[in-house]
Order: sequence, then structure tokens, then C-alpha cells
Amino acid sequence: MTDQAFPAQQQQPPGLTGAMDPVPDHGETSYRGSGRLDGLGALITGGDSGIGRAVAIAFAREGADVAIGYLPEEQEDAEETARWVTKTGRTAVLLPGDLTEERTARALPERAAEALGGLDVLVNNAGFQMARRDAFEDVTTDEIDRVMRTNLYALFWVTQSALRHLGEGSSIVNNSSIQAYQPSTALLDYASTKAAINNLTVNLAAELGPRGIRVNAVAPGPIWTPLQPATQPEEKIEKFGQDTPLGRAGQPAEVAPAFVFLASPSDAGYVSGTVLGVTGGKPVF
Ligand code: NAD
Ligand code: MG
Repeated sequence: MTDQAFPAQQQQPPGLTGAMDPVPDHGETSYRGSGRLDGLGALITGGDSGIGRAVAIAFAREGADVAIGYLPEEQEDAEETARWVTKTGRTAVLLPGDLTEERTARALPERAAEALGGLDVLVNNAGFQMARRDAFEDVTTDEIDRVMRTNLYALFWVTQSALRHLGEGSSIVNNSSIQAYQPSTALLDYASTKAAINNLTVNLAAELGPRGIRVNAVAPGPIWTPLQPATQPEEKIEKFGQDTPLGRAGQPAEVAPAFVFLASPSDAGYVSGTVLGVTGGKPVF
């Protein structure tokens, strides 16, 4: 075991924060805001835990009110995120629901806009993967379906519905992955959705540019979140992130500033159609 190693551990999806050892750093004690999202309303899918929680905390400290989507079984994580958001004096709205269901996904932005009094930023962050042990030809349709519906279909549905509320100056930030560039065979289906998200990000930026709406993505490398112990084998967890040039996994707190930058109308007003890597040194091209 090196200094950067994680204790072997396993959870069932979707995974919970409290069961992780060590518990991830979401910027609770470190993130300092400077009004870069003042007065904006943001919807963050999968905002209960991991990168989504760090984004919610950072957005709130930058002055945004935040609605978060998550699965009903993640209620305790969602409430913890809400606690940090309201501590800053901003509004937190909790919107449980399974985004693989079309009606639920399409309704989410409506619920968020109604509760926040409008919508300025959409963060498509919810995602699912499952490391594959079987041969490629044995992957079932149900397995493929869960990954595609969570990572791609839901992104289409939520974004389509959000566009009824997003106006000039608003923006969309998608969560991509290093897997779009350096795919692992065990995550073949997941990696393909992340490559599609990159393609969609650029194309939607072109489509929505004339409406004054910016579209970007963040491509994280290996980040210590509940998704990992819930979907990767224990032996992978122990070495998680050590294959990066920086030699370690990243924390959610280290990814959130990229989302803040891309969402900020003042900092990134001319940035659209780009994918920003936060990968510990792995190439994103
Ligand atoms: P996480 O488990 O904390 O967050 C993923 C969230 O997705 C869950 O909390 C859950 O609320 C949501 N979700 C999953 N299925 C859902 C469904 N059917 N309906 C509604 N919500 C659903 O893990 P994370 O790593 O922070 O993941 C956030 C995003 O970051 C994902 O898109 C993931 O692909 C991406 N990402 C993660 C890493 C990493 O190493 N952790 C690397 C690259 C990209
Ligand atoms: Mg979660």
C-alpha cells in the first residue's frame, strides 16, 4: 500500500457518502466564493454526492440558489448537500426522481424552475457506470439500457425541458469523463456515452449560440466519489487514480471550480463548445 492507496471497499449502486473511507472532500472547509454566480438559479442532476455535491456547495458560495436531482435512496446525501447550501444563505431545493424514466426527467427542470423562480444554469452531472466482468457479447440489454438512459437519454430529456427556461446569458455544463479519450475496456458502454456527450456539447453549443446560451463540459479524471466503490472491483479501488501523471485520485472539491468557471457569465462569457479536462495530467485530446 502506498500513501495514495484507498482501503478496499465495496458498495451497491448508487452508493452513499457516509460509507466511504475516507469520506471525500467536497470543499466544505476550503471553497471561497466571490459572487461569480450572484443571483442565478442552478439545477444540478446528481447533486447529492460526489462531484455534484462539490458543485452545489461552490455554486451556493458563489451566490446561486441550487436545485438538485438525485435518486430517492440517496435522500440522506441530498439532505447533507442541502444543509451546506442553506448554510451559505442560499436556497436548496431537493428533487428526488429516477431520470431513466422519461416523464420524471422531463419534469425535473419544470420543478426546479418553479421552485427557484427561473433557471440560469443546468449541470447535467448524473451518471452511471458498472465495471464489466463478462465478455462483451454477454452484456445484457438491461445493463446497456441503464447506462445509456442515465448518461445520454436523461441528458437529452432534461436539457430539452430546461430550454423552456434558459435564456440569453444562461449556460449548460455537462459532465463528461477522461473515458471519452482513454476508454477502459471494462467501461466500454459508459465510455461511449461520454464520447457522445463531448460530441453533443460541441453541437449544442453551435445550435444554442444564436440564442445566447453557452454549452460546455468538464472531463474529470479519477475522482473519489460514491460511484467508484459502488461500481468498480475492490482491487481497482485500492489503486484508484495512481495511473495518472499526478499519481493520485482527485477530490470532488478539485473539480468544482471548473464548473464554476464555465457557468460564470462574467468569467466564461465567450467560452462555449469546449471540454475542460480535470484529469490529474491525463490528456484530453
Ligand atoms: P456520484 O455517485 O456521487 O454521482 C452520480 C449521481 O448520479 C448520483 O449521486 C445519482 O444521484 C445520480 N444518478 C445516477 N443514476 C441516476 C438516475 N437513474 N436518476 C437520477 N439520478 C441518477 O458520483 P460522481 O463520480 O460524482 O458522478 C458524477 C458525474 O461525474 C457522472 O456523470 C460521472 O460519470 C462523472 N465522472 C466521474 C468520475 C469519477 O472518477 N468519479 C470521472 C469522470 C466523470
Ligand atoms: Mg449520490
